[in-house]
Amino acid sequence: MTDHTAKPTQVLVVEDSEADFLLVKRRLSRDGMNVICERVDQYQTLADALDRSPDVILYDFDIPGLDFSDALGLIKRQANQIPVILVSGTVNEDVAAKLLHEGLDDFVLKDNLVRLASTIERALRERTERLGRLAAEDQLRKLAMVVEQSPASIVITDTRPAIEYVNDAFLSSTGYSRDEVMGRNPSLLNTGRTPPSTYQEMWSELKRGKTWRGEFSNTRKDGSAYVEAAVVAPIRQPDGTISHYVAIKDDITAQRESEAMIHRLAFYDPLTNLANRSLLLEALEAAMSNACQTGLHGAIIVLDLDSFRFINDVHGYEMGDRLLCEVGMRLREAVDDNDTVARIGGDQFAIVIAKLSSSVAASIEDTQRLASSLHERLYEPYTLSNGKGQIRHASSLGAYVFNGREGRAEAPLDRAELALQRAKDDGRNLVRLYSPELKAMVEARANTESRLRSAIINKDLELHLQSQFDIEGRLIGAEMLLRWPQPNGEFISPMIFIPLAEATGLILPIGEQVLDQAMSTLLAWQTQPDTRHLKLSVNVSARQFHQPDFVDNLRSRLKRHPVDPSRLVLELTESVVLDDMETTREKMRTIRQLGMGIALDDFGKGYSSLSYLKHLPFDLLKIDRSFVADMLSSESSEAIVRAILAMGHALKLTVIAEGVEVQQQWDLLRRERCGGYQGYLFARPVRLDQWQPRHY
Ligand code: C2E
Ligand code: CA
Ligand code: CA
Repeated sequence: MTDHTAKPTQVLVVEDSEADFLLVKRRLSRDGMNVICERVDQYQTLADALDRSPDVILYDFDIPGLDFSDALGLIKRQANQIPVILVSGTVNEDVAAKLLHEGLDDFVLKDNLVRLASTIERALRERTERLGRLAAEDQLRKLAMVVEQSPASIVITDTRPAIEYVNDAFLSSTGYSRDEVMGRNPSLLNTGRTPPSTYQEMWSELKRGKTWRGEFSNTRKDGSAYVEAAVVAPIRQPDGTISHYVAIKDDITAQRESEAMIHRLAFYDPLTNLANRSLLLEALEAAMSNACQTGLHGAIIVLDLDSFRFINDVHGYEMGDRLLCEVGMRLREAVDDNDTVARIGGDQFAIVIAKLSSSVAASIEDTQRLASSLHERLYEPYTLSNGKGQIRHASSLGAYVFNGREGRAEAPLDRAELALQRAKDDGRNLVRLYSPELKAMVEARANTESRLRSAIINKDLELHLQSQFDIEGRLIGAEMLLRWPQPNGEFISPMIFIPLAEATGLILPIGEQVLDQAMSTLLAWQTQPDTRHLKLSVNVSARQFHQPDFVDNLRSRLKRHPVDPSRLVLELTESVVLDDMETTREKMRTIRQLGMGIALDDFGKGYSSLSYLKHLPFDLLKIDRSFVADMLSSESSEAIVRAILAMGHALKLTVIAEGVEVQQQWDLLRRERCGGYQGYLFARPVRLDQWQPRHY
């Protein structure tokens, strides 16, 4: 019905007869239409009137000077959606039908004007509908473009499901062509890497009309794998039935890869690809809760490569890295796949063994056996990267067997580390299992260490001198020996605190103090006629000797103090030369060039390899006191002493026998023409300030 409050309908009447125009106008207002009518009868006035956007055009077919087709063309061009109704007295129905085909909307005969109002209203209604439809189509077109050009993969299937539509993103991400996928089941992308449960879950949601979100692990046409985050939804018809499914999927492979990378960085050691400390603690926690549930024990082993620093210092970091990787590989090979191997520090590794036995004793035995075999395995030779042959590298291991009731995951690790500490304290290259007594021992040691530290700072350590004599009993020199005086007036033996100082690095400041004392002693000796010819021996430990600046340090001391370097003898043990003969030889040569003497201490005690003596520039050899002690009772010891002396003579080395306590020992050694003597028979070590240069 006509709404009189609304804007009046603008009616443009193309009509040459004013009378007919008035007729139309009157008819419309009589029919209750709210209209404003305008009449035109020329091409130009029609064009102008169209600019004012009329709502409807009533057209008289026969207008002199205005061709209907031209006029209709103008109208369609200029005002496409305006309905045009032919109002004519002449046109027969056939012509009208033809005109309708050309774009006319309707027609009314002049003698049937009663139809006009309703015809206009219908035409206007249809126009509104048409415009609405156009808008909807336009929206659909836009929607199609969005789907088509979406960066997300979009797939529409029917309910079978067979693919009905895929967008370009789908094609570029899968590598398939449109023809290859049309009508196929989207599962062609699944080569079994997405678990079946994912699909079951998806279908049960979709069948219930629900949207499903999840992930697919799919495979491209070229076989490469990718991961998609997907939203799959049913499409319902107006009657509620599901006719299609649509899937919108994003390729999240790169995201997953960077997540995996971040995970690797957070939980793995990049050098060896082993677990890091964080992952080890997680594995340990899991193993502990497992042990709690099953009653089976687990174990943690920690290990440390002995003096690994030297590898880096001597062979370079590349070799160091290679060694660490090789150690990782050997450990990995030696344990089960479900045991965790981790690198938890520079040269520290750890292994969690998940399931041992329900018996503690058996578990401890298993762990001990495994640790020992790891220890042996790690000592097998490593090939040097520069092709210069092979090296061996010792390690120390500590282990702890747990039952899962230790509380925090750190507790078993701490205990295994305590056992490792014990292995190192006991001289390295060892395996130790944790026990409660061990804890007390390690604690006592830690206490001793801190007391030693303050003793060094307070310069409490004393130096004693023990005289050395020649075959006639004449004084030829003295050895400096450290003493650590205690409040009760006794001394702690260097046999106890030197290894501790070595292990903790405290040997370095101690060594400095000893060399300081040696320099000032020599300076003092040089001023006296009865001492200026004497030699002073100092003990140099392995760690001290292997300091990269050890030789420079000696050289600058000689510059600072005007002492005769040939009066100073450095005593080295076999442990110094054990690992790396090449570098040791270089260092020794430089020291000899500086003018100092070098003695091989404790000969016969360790490996006593003859090759050290032959290949390294020693000028003095000290027979270990254990041989001297056994010489009188054991024929083999006597034979060894003879052999050492013969060898020393052949190599033109001065040989000093240590620990000569009784006359018979001296007699025997003198018969074999041993050149030097040191022992309680001649003199005990005495404090530096009480020492006297006396012959025997
Ligand atoms: P060492 O270099 O073999 O020193 C000789 C040891 O034998 C000394 O023990 C000395 O007191 C002892 N000794 C001497 N004559 C006899 C004897 O007739 N019978 C017996 N049973 N023993 C005798 P000490 O002073 O306890 O030193 C033990 C070790 O501590 C030394 O063995 C040496 O390896 C180390 N040491 C001592 N002072 C230093 C030092 O300043 N630096 C370093 N790095 N090590 C030191
Ligand atoms: Ca010595
Ligand atoms: Ca010695």
